[in-house]
Order: sequence, then C-alpha cells, then structure tokens
Amino acid sequence: MPDYVLKATAGNGQIRVFAATTQGLAETARKLHHTSPVVTQALGRLLTAGSLMGSMMKNADELITLKIASDGPLSGLLVTADASGNVKGYPYVSDLSDTMESPMPVSEAIGDGALNILKDIGLKEPYVGYSPLVSGELAEDLTYYYAQSEQIPTSVSLGVLLNDDGTVRQAGGFIIQLMPDTDDDVIDALEAALADTPSLTKQLDEGKTLEEIMEGLFKHLNLKISKTEITRFICDCSRQRITKALISIGKKDLIDMIADQEDIEINCDFCKEKYLFTPEDLQSILDRIIEKEG
Ligand SMILES: [Zn+2]
Repeated sequence: MPDYVLKATAGNGQIRVFAATTQGLAETARKLHHTSPVVTQALGRLLTAGSLMGSMMKNADELITLKIASDGPLSGLLVTADASGNVKGYPYVSDLSDTMESPMPVSEAIGDGALNILKDIGLKEPYVGYSPLVSGELAEDLTYYYAQSEQIPTSVSLGVLLNDDGTVRQAGGFIIQLMPDTDDDVIDALEAALADTPSLTKQLDEGKTLEEIMEGLFKHLNLKISKTEITRFICDCSRQRITKALISIGKKDLIDMIADQEDIEINCDFCKEKYLFTPEDLQSILDRIIEKEG
C-alpha cells in the first residue's frame, strides 16, 4: 500500500481535515540518510508535515519548505514539498549515536530554535512564516506556528513508530483546522474526539486504514472525504541543477577549483546522489559564464 494523503471536511464544512500515512516516505529517508533512531523520528515527522502542508496548497506549481534551525545536537532539518505529494528532506546531522535501547526524545535532539516556513507561490518574493519552537516535538511547534503566524486554530499530530532494528514500522499524521466562526458545539465535539482517540500510528499498527481512523475520529462530526492522493519521497536533482549551482558560486571560486586540477564530487543534500565534475567540466562551465558576460 503506497503512502497517501486524505483530504476531507467535517462538522458541516467548518473543519478542514488532512491526514497522511507515510511509512514508506519515512523509511526511504532513513535509508538515504542512514539516520539513527531519534533522527529517523524527527525527519519522518517533518516529512509527514511536508506531505500534509504540500497537499493544502492550492496550485500545482507551489512549493513549501519547512526549516528547523535549533541548538540541540541535531542542529536542524529541512523539508521541501510540492502540491502533488512529492516530498524530500534531510537532517543537518544524521547520526546522534542514540540506540533503540536508550532512546533520545526528539525534543532533546532538536533543542531550542525556530521553525521557518517558505511558500513559493510563483511570486517574486516567497511568503515567509516564522515561529519559535515551543516543544521541539514538532507537532506542537506546528500547532503554535498556525496559531501565531497564520491565526488559524489547528490540531497537528505527527508520529513515527520504529521497529526494534530502527526501521520505520508506521508513520503518519494529521492537520485539522477550524474555519473562522466555527460553532462552539462543533469545537467541543472535536476536542472531545481528539482527547478520546489513540495515536494515529498506534491505530495504523492495529491494521486500520486512514479512512477508518478518520471516520472513527469524526464519527459525530459528519466526515466527508473529498480526495486521496499518493505521497512519496522523491528528489528532482539533476546534473543540470547542480551545474546551475556551480555557476552561481562565481568565477573566482571556479578558477580556484580548476587550478587544483582535481575532480570535484558534489552530493545532493536531499537524496545523496553523487555528481562528479572533472577540471575539464569546470573549465567548460567557466567558459560559459565568460561567454555570457560577453
Ligand atoms: Zn537529489
């Protein structure tokens, strides 16, 4: 069963619901980045947030970037998602030497810091949102971000459950938002339902589908599922993109690199793909810059 995002409304249209099951996504990231358990959890949670927030965007060409910068041993995480369920991300530090036997809490790995959100909606200047981390567990941090930065009452859940060998057993999450002027009785019913419901990953692990879990959560609130969409970890890097990045570092650095007469290996941060550039390759990039300048 591939990972997917479910979109729905509830409470007669007063509640917006986005839920995702992301085990494959989180496990792909673990394999690519060789993460230790706490990093697997932190990255899996933020990737899940990326899937959800990407699916909340209105236009196909929009991109969203979630960036955590913090003072804990993990230092930070970066995740980018588009509106079609394509998500990629990486941790600043992959291995914190933690083990399944002595687990480190995600909040301890992350520490204090901030969440930055960039939305590239095709305008010249991207939208930038910012909020300090309030717990370092990520779901609460996003809840706080929505309240503070976008003034939308939101409930966020993000979870990653690991097997004994550190591989990802279950992952998933939801973002539930109230429309302005939601009736008090709808709010009360939602709060009671949220307080009463076991975690999403626990229910997935019991073999329930995302649809069944959301129908259970909203059983008194008239859930209407409008769409489900595949989500996956995919990187769109290419030699052409890396070449563009090399062009942007400028003539002086390129000349220095060519003078060293050594091959340069550049790894994509998101997927670890290796790109090799010989001094001859670098020279032809430099020639192109000079040619352009005329
Ligand atoms: Zn890549």
